[in-house]
Amino acid sequence: MHIGCPTEIKVREYRVGLTPAAVQALTDRGHDVTMQTGAGLGAGFDDADYMAAGAVMGDVDAVFAADMIVKVKEPQTAERARLRKGQTLFTYLHLAPDTPQTEELIASGATCIAYETVTDRNGGLPLLAPMSEVAGRLAPQVGAWSLQKANGGRGVLMGGVPGVGPADVVVIGGGVVGTHAARIAAGMGARVTVLDLSLPRMRQLDDQFGGVFSTRYASRANILELCAQADMIVGAVLIPGAAAPKLLSRADLATLKPGAVLVDVAIDQGGCFETSKATTHDEPIYEVDGVIHYCVANMPGAVARTSTIALGNATMPFVLALADKGWKAACAADAHLAAGLNVHEGIITNEAVAAAQNLDW
Ligand code: NAD
Repeated sequence: MHIGCPTEIKVREYRVGLTPAAVQALTDRGHDVTMQTGAGLGAGFDDADYMAAGAVMGDVDAVFAADMIVKVKEPQTAERARLRKGQTLFTYLHLAPDTPQTEELIASGATCIAYETVTDRNGGLPLLAPMSEVAGRLAPQVGAWSLQKANGGRGVLMGGVPGVGPADVVVIGGGVVGTHAARIAAGMGARVTVLDLSLPRMRQLDDQFGGVFSTRYASRANILELCAQADMIVGAVLIPGAAAPKLLSRADLATLKPGAVLVDVAIDQGGCFETSKATTHDEPIYEVDGVIHYCVANMPGAVARTSTIALGNATMPFVLALADKGWKAACAADAHLAAGLNVHEGIITNEAVAAAQNLDW
């Protein structure tokens, strides 16, 4: 199969759909890969790395001539215009809230498989998890920076020093983001508590990380009590398919310590603090009522190289199956990959997307 991988054109997207390692795996199996010139530069891969792995470098026309396009972000308008019937697109799509994209993918006739709806045998989302891992591990790092006095924070060091206590960190939501955030915050020396509503999840966390951080039930009373003592609060909740619940109101900010930091990782689902509004890597923080807010909606973009490699590790088996067998046989052989099929030859093939867009499926 001929596989094409373009340079991402969404603003400030530095990741790339295929790593040189993925290209090598594809060319070893006899597939042809065309990479757009410079596609990997933002993630620290130069054209020579791709050529050494057997790719041909080309312009965007050469890339979109391929049978399958592998990328990272949803296709932008100019990219959607290039898609055609008989072509497979494998990337993040997030179609549910995006009517223009849905309509144009339907019109293109292409077969579009979305990373975010591919499943695994544990009921997880294996192509979303790596980005949650990255965002979770990044959260204490950006939160620690925000806590510095010059950035408006309380001027508290995560690990303290001998004779001075560490920062108190509260993580609300103990899923993928929350667990990774708690581990890193604890690793930096902070005193960490994770709140969740799921008792089975807290039992699991307690078994695995009992001595590293503690868990508390996420009742409103516990949230308010712990947040009032916290230097940093990480918002990491998710209710699948729904907007994030608002766990701290504007009035609640008055109960927090002045200069406390909120890192709202759930901002891509609307945020779990009433005062959260999405920010960018250029201006990641702002202050409301003396509390610093960090609300970057695409946190993994800050560490494009780590994120590209992590995403590539997760997508690789699916890319190889699609290349070896073609989308139809690959999806017939793997119901989890088939769950990723969102649009095929003008028809929506994912129930949740169809429901969100009021379309038949
Ligand atoms: P997850 O499903 O693994 O975990 C969510 C956890 O939240 C679950 O354990 C659930 O029990 C818990 N929860 C739900 N409602 C709660 C409540 N009211 N109080 C306490 N806990 C509650 O999800 P995840 O992969 O960890 O993702 C968390 C959020 O981070 C999602 O909104 C995701 O989209 C977002 N995210 C953002 C970025 C970014 O760049 N900003 C990157 C990756 C993920």
